[in-house]
Amino acid sequence: MQDLLQKHWHHLPASEVIDLLDTRGEGGLDQFEVSGRQERFGANALTPAKGKGPLQRFLQQFNQALVYILVAAIVIKLALGGYVDAAVIFAVVLLNAVLGFAQENKALNALAALSRALTTEATVVRAGNKQRINARDLVPGDLVMLASGDKVPADLRLLQVRDLQVDESALTGESVPVAKQAGELAHDAALADRRNMAYTSTLVTYGTATGVVIAIGDGTEIGNISGLIAGTQQLDTPLTRQVGRFSHYLLYLILALAALTFVVGLAHGESWVAMFMATVALAVAMIPEGLPAVLTITLAIGVGRMAQRHAIIRRLPAVETLGSTTVICSDKTGTLTRNEMTVQKLSAGGAHFDLSGVGYGPEGSLQQQGLAVDPGKHPALAALLRAGLLCNDSLLRERDGIWQVEGDPTEGALLVAARKAGLDSQEALAGAPRLDAVPFESQHQYMATLHAGESRMVFMKGSVESVLARCSGALDAGAKTVTFEPEVVLAQVDAMAAAGLRVLAFAQRPASNDQETLGHQDLAEGMTFVGLQGMIDPPREEAIRAVSACRDAGVRVKMITGDHAVTAAAIAGQIGLDQRAGPGAAPAALTGTQLATLSDSELTAAVNDTAVFARVTPEQKLRLVQALQARGEVVAMTGDGVNDAPALRRADIGVAMGITGTEVAKEAADMVLTDDNFATIAAAVEEGRGVFDNLTKFITWILATNAGQGLVIVVAVMLAQPLPVLPVQALWINMTTAVFLGLALAFEPKEPNLMSRPPRAPGSPIVNGELALRIAMVGVMLLVGAFGLFEWALLRGASEEQARTIAVNVFAVGQSFYLLNCRSLRWSMFHLGLLSNPWIWAGISTMMLAQLAFTYLPLFNHLFHTAPIAAFDWLPIIAVGLTIYLAMEFEKAYRRRSGALPRFARALR
Ligand code: ADP
Ligand code: MG
Repeated sequence: MQDLLQKHWHHLPASEVIDLLDTRGEGGLDQFEVSGRQERFGANALTPAKGKGPLQRFLQQFNQALVYILVAAIVIKLALGGYVDAAVIFAVVLLNAVLGFAQENKALNALAALSRALTTEATVVRAGNKQRINARDLVPGDLVMLASGDKVPADLRLLQVRDLQVDESALTGESVPVAKQAGELAHDAALADRRNMAYTSTLVTYGTATGVVIAIGDGTEIGNISGLIAGTQQLDTPLTRQVGRFSHYLLYLILALAALTFVVGLAHGESWVAMFMATVALAVAMIPEGLPAVLTITLAIGVGRMAQRHAIIRRLPAVETLGSTTVICSDKTGTLTRNEMTVQKLSAGGAHFDLSGVGYGPEGSLQQQGLAVDPGKHPALAALLRAGLLCNDSLLRERDGIWQVEGDPTEGALLVAARKAGLDSQEALAGAPRLDAVPFESQHQYMATLHAGESRMVFMKGSVESVLARCSGALDAGAKTVTFEPEVVLAQVDAMAAAGLRVLAFAQRPASNDQETLGHQDLAEGMTFVGLQGMIDPPREEAIRAVSACRDAGVRVKMITGDHAVTAAAIAGQIGLDQRAGPGAAPAALTGTQLATLSDSELTAAVNDTAVFARVTPEQKLRLVQALQARGEVVAMTGDGVNDAPALRRADIGVAMGITGTEVAKEAADMVLTDDNFATIAAAVEEGRGVFDNLTKFITWILATNAGQGLVIVVAVMLAQPLPVLPVQALWINMTTAVFLGLALAFEPKEPNLMSRPPRAPGSPIVNGELALRIAMVGVMLLVGAFGLFEWALLRGASEEQARTIAVNVFAVGQSFYLLNCRSLRWSMFHLGLLSNPWIWAGISTMMLAQLAFTYLPLFNHLFHTAPIAAFDWLPIIAVGLTIYLAMEFEKAYRRRSGALPRFARALR
């Protein structure tokens, strides 16, 4: 069979394809055959693109300005016979590369694991059963069903096609969808012209089809184009690029400072070699080597935390953008509400009925004004329930005593309602088998089916607007067709919707006995109105809490729904989306029809004041995103359908539904919610802020320490004093503190007040004026402490080695204390909880052990030119650290009290 996989499938008739692949007709493969083929052909997965190899990524670690400077230092040291120094510097260069490589690897692995977490599903027919499976398990010969929104899971020869349109841009680059057909084609048809084939990774934008798998995994067309295989994650984001640019400028500054130091030193009569070593020490001290690695790690940690909270990040920059989100536009059904529909009110033949019971269980009864009702005596009511049963794609199943809906909950609720009244869908379908259907699509807002039976019938259900517009008659209480009075119906709809019920309208009409297929053109007019069913869909408790948390966080939430304006507004009121009308009161809603009449500038004005947008089409979602962005908002927008893709792509954060969403929507999104829950978006925003917070803390920490270390050398040279820190010592202190101390900030838990601050203004600098001042203050304190204690030790008659050991310890201790300050930019660590980040204490302890070794072990004394110091010498060192800690806590307290911080943050907005 192997050779079969190279056939010109498009050239063969469908029947021959089925024979060749031994698919066994309509029922598909059986499980035994599937297992055999899985063993033979392996998993349907693309071998991930190689990306950069490990060796290449390791070597890249050496491509840094610092490394070049160090290599120059090694050469000069060797030339002067300083073999130990040269070896130490070399070892550090190597270690630096290994650490950087390990951290980058960790981040890449974390991201790769996430991209594997998002699987593609496929609908197959096996042994006569239609089932959803993981696309990895497909084998050649499998019968696959495609529907609008699917990602084609393998290369298929199409057997039956219904209006199928496929976006093949992943394969051909052509983004206009291609219409497909099933007939055989000329032998020499080019790939893009093979209309009877559907290729892996292309997206179904419209229609349905059935096809047989002819190639899987690397054997597919997309597998052949190795260059196109996606799936490798990029580690750079706007933030890392911003930091990259910043590092560049910093490097120029350092080089300028180094040149100045060099010249001044020479003027003081120092030797060339001594001055070169001083500038090397300066560069080593001031370049924040740890920065890129910690950035990446922090982002990766954020991605992991978001995944734990059910938000899968598809594009790394989204982690940052989430933190500055100002508006979340959310679907209603299933996201803000539970999507557990229960029909409570019915209206048919001019009479109203109530239905009791909760959930999908069939317990409950029909009542009319408190009295039990027998649907057998109400022909119009029976017709309404029957329409709901037949015009339906869902299934009701009982598992361990729990009733569950397979398919759309809106439709499941209709099955439950009919069942409560004693109607069964199997029986109904047996009497009236379905011949054809027009599936529900958001943009049409209705679904219809054609049924055989005694006489052929068309049933239709959908939004009130879409169904009523097509009706010219109505059923009366006795199920006789009479003239239709839409005003009466609309009044009932309003009453139901005002209570927050989702209202579906039903209609039917007889069909001629030769009608076999159903299309939109058959449904344009002449329908008979049958009745209404109103269902509750309770708000999610956690969504209510999340909406209020968003309000505190300065993130506004807007509901964008296809549902009725009155229903949407009522639910919005229950959720507390817009409190201007008073708690619990329904806010004003803008409908898609009204929206369509607004110009772009009018919309930009209106979008600010409106929290609920109802009967919105997917195209209008795109306009809403644009209008919000025109106001400078950072917009997160949810979506699930094929037509939502443009809006998702345009939004700053496109959010796709993991459960109900189509593959097309997921593909377009930056983030996928594995639980479809609004609260998850709010959680991701919180995590995004946490990531940004930790990055800012790290930067505030590392820049101050680098400033301090650099200043010491500059000042020493300017004052013609011996260097308080030698190049190898600068290397030591930089490496150890970045790894043991700085990295711990990446694990800092989110601060308690994270969601009571306004969002960060997008594009605002990470280090604002206030932080710059803090960095400068700490830098100066480190300088004074290290230089002061160094000079004092020399005055007391200590050796240069001892004095330097003291200076280096000032940095180690001072940076440890300052690390405690940096755990929060606003609060003291007592407010955060002393032990809430154990890494801090582990890091500081390790750092201290390392310093003891550095100070007292003979080997280290030899390698780093240090010497043991007296116990007394530690007192002033610790005093410097404590001073920094207290001073910075005082500064934070002052800013908290004076309110400078909130005012500053507000000014940024
Ligand atoms: P949303 O999910 O935001 O409520 P949809 O676009 O899914 O919006 O639905 C819009 C309207 O279409 C609903 O208010 C309802 O009246 C109708 N509708 C929803 N689902 C179905 C369905 N399966 N069949 C027919 N009509 C439906
Ligand atoms: Mg929906």
